[in-house]
Amino acid sequence: MNLPGDACERDSIWDREVETEDRAQALARGEAAWERQWAHLMEHSDFYRNKFSGAGHVRLADLSRLPFTGKADLKAAIDERPPFGTNLCVPEERVKRVYQTSGTSGAPSVLALTPSDIEMWTTIGTRTYYTSGIHDHNSVLSTFGAGPFVAGHTYFVLARIGTRVVPLGPGDADRVLFGMRAGIFDTLLTTPSFAQYLANRLDKDGEKPRTLKHIVTGGEPGGGIPAVRDHIESVTGAFVNEVMGIGDIAPSLFGECPGREGMHFSGGGHVWVELVDPDSREPMAIEPGAVGELVYTHLTREAHPVVRFLGGDLIEVQRGDCGCGRTTFRMRIIGRRDDMFIVRGVNVYPSAILAVVAGFRPRVTGRARVVRDASNVSVEPPVPIEVEVPSGHAADGQLAADLEKAVRSALTFRCRVELISEENFGEASYKTRLTRKT
Ligand SMILES: [Zn+2]
Repeated sequence: MNLPGDACERDSIWDREVETEDRAQALARGEAAWERQWAHLMEHSDFYRNKFSGAGHVRLADLSRLPFTGKADLKAAIDERPPFGTNLCVPEERVKRVYQTSGTSGAPSVLALTPSDIEMWTTIGTRTYYTSGIHDHNSVLSTFGAGPFVAGHTYFVLARIGTRVVPLGPGDADRVLFGMRAGIFDTLLTTPSFAQYLANRLDKDGEKPRTLKHIVTGGEPGGGIPAVRDHIESVTGAFVNEVMGIGDIAPSLFGECPGREGMHFSGGGHVWVELVDPDSREPMAIEPGAVGELVYTHLTREAHPVVRFLGGDLIEVQRGDCGCGRTTFRMRIIGRRDDMFIVRGVNVYPSAILAVVAGFRPRVTGRARVVRDASNVSVEPPVPIEVEVPSGHAADGQLAADLEKAVRSALTFRCRVELISEENFGEASYKTRLTRKT
């Protein structure tokens, strides 16, 4: 299955053997890799020897016997023996690439890769972006920086697929628009926030990009929210789908195919995924309709392997058939665990608010965030929400009232909307946090 208008006859599945295997084959492949990984961990890691002492030999099927690993555990391991930590499982001289984490939940940390790890990330990323519909005949402008963050690894992936690459970096709208007018790319990699920002600028100028055909969003939720996606598509005329990765696991791990029924898991053979109940953390089956939190285990990572890592993403496994031929499970993000709050006993994710707000264009820009006390996950209604509006419209009392009514009717809780003009909303337009904690 290709993107609309793409008549290229190449196989649209990059790694047919892995991406079309059945559950039993996937388990067999995972088991074999895990046996080697278990030996590697026990032999080379103080961190895991201590963490798993007394567990005996653990098979992949019994993974749920092992404790979870959280971001705080990895941070503590790094702090104990900097710069690479007690969780480094290879001699330091074998580390050939180092990314940094953003430090949004604490001080920045490091991610070490051996040549084999670099290749593993490229393999998974190539399946992911190829799934999105990017082929070798495409010209791709990437607004992901080359570093210090893991999204920079995307440049290796684009080279592997064989695309023309137009490197840029975050936040430079003028250069994106220059490239768009010059027709030097047909595919854009961006955050959905930045895609919305570009769409708003194009809309204001009444401009239609001629050669842009495809926008792949990543880095935050948005590309999977229909109201957000539809707006970007209607202004740009481009097809929008999304990819997702997790810094500690692989920068691109899920990719949505042109069937657009959720993102396919792309990590077969290298990453093992479990689904757990978000509250009890008991294992759940990965089956259509299931809602839970994803847990990740590296099967082949050498330098900084993680086992049962709680990624913090709440997902829903998608039903139906996307039609592309891949047998890998598909999912959509419901929200980040950190962003979730509770109103009168009901769990709420800010992305649900975003979906409501997006319906109010062009009176709003599409950006919005919840304001809440960092120490308290429960919020008493009315829930404070800041909504970005075009310059000069911050005093539109009717708009605020309409938004409050729409949130109440869609999400059943009362909110208090504060309209904020785009020059005062703050944060680079590249990536927007959905929660402002006070
Ligand atoms: Zn598909």
